[in-house]
Amino acid sequence: AKSNGRGTVCFYEAAMNASLQNRRALEMGLRQALVRDEFLLHYQPLVDARTHEILGFEALIRWAHPERGLVAPSEFISIAESCGLIGEIGRWTLRRACLDARSWPGQVKVAVNLSPVQFKDRQLVEAVRAVLEESGLAPERLELEITESVLLHDSEAVLSSLHRIKALGVQISMDDFGTGYSSLSYLRSFPFDKIKIDRSFVRDLPHDTNSVAIVRAVVGLSGTFGISVTAEGVETSEQARQLALEDCDQLQGYLFSRPIPAAGIPELIGRLADA
Ligand code: C2E
Ligand code: CA
Ligand code: CA
Ligand code: CA
Repeated sequence: AKSNGRGTVCFYEAAMNASLQNRRALEMGLRQALVRDEFLLHYQPLVDARTHEILGFEALIRWAHPERGLVAPSEFISIAESCGLIGEIGRWTLRRACLDARSWPGQVKVAVNLSPVQFKDRQLVEAVRAVLEESGLAPERLELEITESVLLHDSEAVLSSLHRIKALGVQISMDDFGTGYSSLSYLRSFPFDKIKIDRSFVRDLPHDTNSVAIVRAVVGLSGTFGISVTAEGVETSEQARQLALEDCDQLQGYLFSRPIPAAGIPELIGRLADA
């Protein structure tokens, strides 16, 4: 605050109260959303970088708010994490996604985002096992996406959970690679099957030489560890072409499809197959 006048202080207090109130309202709303079944999943395809064949779908949560309409996860996931609701929301998401995926063609996978906070739950691995059993989905068709921030806290415990999840036959992806504290050495110490290059490195392709160099380095090192590489946020055919040339395995982005409701998946599979 440049001015120390009383008016400025009041303005800030009012703004803080408003955001605190907004937060409380969101927290209450999230609790009710679970009871009233207001969450839903949209799905975005992951395609083969060379053939553009659909290999899987990522589940992305939305909240059908009674007054505000569809609310994006960026507006409620971090609140759910800090007020202890992410466990229940995460279990709902995992179950819904596995149940939805049962009706897709047999080889098509489903990717589900896990919050780092969910790793504090000692029942996480058991919950994954139970959902696979209930849904009857082949474990190989489930991928769990985690961000590198999960490795910052108690990485011994996280590592043990990751190994137990992998032992179920489920795949693990490192999401948003390159944005956090990542170091390529994580690729050696953690059992990832896939890494997803963050869309900030895709945005300026094919012209930005730094982005090209990063994609090349990630693909090169991943290859030596047998890890597959997905590029996120692919919006143009030039980006798609470049990423295929750089030997990325899979692509995801608005070029192929925005996230869509589960009901639209059969049609989308047909349309992309004909393209
Ligand atoms: P994310 O896991 O990195 O998901 C990709 C986000 O990028 C999605 O946003 C997707 O709609 C968007 N996106 C996809 N293709 C493009 C593109 O070509 N261009 C651009 N500009 N954006 C693209 P969304 O659905 O709003 O999700 C945002 C974040 O919220 C996700 O980032 C993820 O971190 C989190 N999230 C979503 N669903 C869940 C969930 O079920 N559980 C948890 N814990 N987090 C979730
Ligand atoms: Ca993700
Ligand atoms: Ca991502
Ligand atoms: Ca992200």
